[in-house]
Amino acid sequence: MTDTLTTWAGSHTFRGGPVVRPTTVEEVAAVVADARHVRALGSRHSFHDLADSPGTLVVLDRLDVPTTIDADARTVTVGAGVRYGELARHLHAQGWALHTMASLPHIAVAGTVATATHGSGDHAANLSAAVRGLELVGADGTVRTLGPDDQELAGAVVALGGLGVVTRVTLAIEPTYEVAQEVWTDLPWSQALDRFEEIMGSAWSVSLFTDWTGDAVDQVWRKHRVDAGTLGPEVAGARPAPGPMHPVPGQDPAACTQQGGVPGPWHERLPHFRLEFTPSAGAELQSEWLVPREHAVAAVQALRGLRDLVSPLLLISEIRSIAGDDLWLSTAHGGDRIGLHFTWKPLRAQVDAALPVIEEALAPFDARPHWGKLFSGPGAGRTWQDLYPRWDDARALLERHDPEGRFANDFLRRVGLR
Ligand SMILES: Cc1cc2nc3c(=O)[nH]c(=O)nc-3n(C[C@H](O)[C@H](O)[C@H](O)COP(=O)(O)OP(=O)(O)OC[C@H]3O[C@@H](n4cnc5c(N)ncnc54)[C@H](O)[C@@H]3O)c2cc1C
Repeated sequence: MTDTLTTWAGSHTFRGGPVVRPTTVEEVAAVVADARHVRALGSRHSFHDLADSPGTLVVLDRLDVPTTIDADARTVTVGAGVRYGELARHLHAQGWALHTMASLPHIAVAGTVATATHGSGDHAANLSAAVRGLELVGADGTVRTLGPDDQELAGAVVALGGLGVVTRVTLAIEPTYEVAQEVWTDLPWSQALDRFEEIMGSAWSVSLFTDWTGDAVDQVWRKHRVDAGTLGPEVAGARPAPGPMHPVPGQDPAACTQQGGVPGPWHERLPHFRLEFTPSAGAELQSEWLVPREHAVAAVQALRGLRDLVSPLLLISEIRSIAGDDLWLSTAHGGDRIGLHFTWKPLRAQVDAALPVIEEALAPFDARPHWGKLFSGPGAGRTWQDLYPRWDDARALLERHDPEGRFANDFLRRVGLR
């Protein structure tokens, strides 16, 4: 192979090749038909070999597909390789919006929805939940479309790249809206735990940032939808931030979206990071586990008990809230979740050693690992079937549509989906 690609964080070097960049759906179909093994890459923001293939790697950043808005249906159809930040600008300019954004706008639409990527908000399901249709090139090289009434759509959206190369994604949209973002610091842990529901529900989107040490949560980020009323009351026991903040200690807040309660377009406030800047820290690894909402406080307490293990490896942790959905492999399948996220220092061996310990601590809470971030398994004493009631259906779906394993890879085999 001539091109050497890595994940955004450099945490995995892709073994497959060649790397191809088709510009039309017909070219994608021809590439798939010609390849014994093939996978699509998104913007490569996952942290492991999820997107890799022993064969051809298809990058869709040059796919020339128009972005079309259907105002009556309240949907937008977009090329799979378009980044959310670019889509969001287009939508806002036309008077439309998405219901949520991830922490960064740099990620590609198809790769993002394939892993159940999410933002934060009690009423905000993950980005995959907005999918109303997919166009994909299947294992036989033909182009299929799945619409909202298709029984398989709920299994096809979060398919981890195992169902084919998605070429177009149709997403639900709503009229554009404004958001004001404010940051608070030093929320006492006693308040955070006693009033967890109230704090997480105190704005459209709330994130708690902590390194798990000390008596206080370091930062509380609140993003208020202006059309949902005025800014909420103060965060009990916390202090307003003295100026712009970056969630990762020592990083320049210039990379972050505007704070200070200044209203602005949804896509310039819902992500933490600006499209023009490097998001997060850059040199990092990430993990995240999602627990049912009712276990949130107990799970947070379990993690506080691991602070001596976790904190030395950590840049920052983030606690978020995600509304439930019905997508078979979504980490929020079946009910609301709390996301317990870790941005690690780039210390791979130490992080890998810590993962099973964290998973054991979170296993009683049916924690589901984020598909795009580092994990070691379903948790001590757990199977994937325990965590996902539609697991066997998802596996059967991949098998049925790709009997020869054209889209199979080591990741899917490790988790038992192939
Ligand atoms: C700095 C940083 C911040 C992050 N913040 C968040 C966050 O706020 N919330 C969150 O939930 N996650 C977050 N993530 C994780 C990230 O959103 C996910 O890993 C997401 O999948 C990345 O999308 P991608 O386009 O880079 O996908 P990739 O990593 O390139 O691919 C992911 C999967 O999608 C498949 N895929 C990609 N394109 C296609 C296609 N066209 N057809 C079929 N399958 C396809 C791949 O085969 C692979 O299985 C963050 C990651 C980073 C690096």
